[in-house]
Amino acid sequence: MHEMGIVLHLAKTLDQTAAEEKLSRISKVTLQVGEVSGIITDLFVDAWNYFKPRHPVLADSELVLEEIPAVTWCDSCKSKYETVRYGRTCPYCGSGETWLLQGNECVIKEIEAE
Ligand SMILES: [Zn+2]
Repeated sequence: MHEMGIVLHLAKTLDQTAAEEKLSRISKVTLQVGEVSGIITDLFVDAWNYFKPRHPVLADSELVLEEIPAVTWCDSCKSKYETVRYGRTCPYCGSGETWLLQGNECVIKEIEAE
């Protein structure tokens, strides 16, 4: 499961951050998840709940997921459009010279600690 791997990596990162910053408990983690990152929120929360008791630092933490909408940039007509709605082809000029500006990320935005 894709989500398990990400959460495992995340838990390790948080353990490390806590050790570096000398935090004993993390109370809240805000994560930004891109609309086309391929992460299924429900599975992600399940995975989080599975790993939580295994990482003392995270035992009482709350997970907040913020979705980042996917936006694609068209290089031919220099415009932006919604990725999920139109895919790789620009709806304004029909060009395929497009690339994803945002929406593929999975990043820690904020950590609150006690
Ligand atoms: Zn275009």
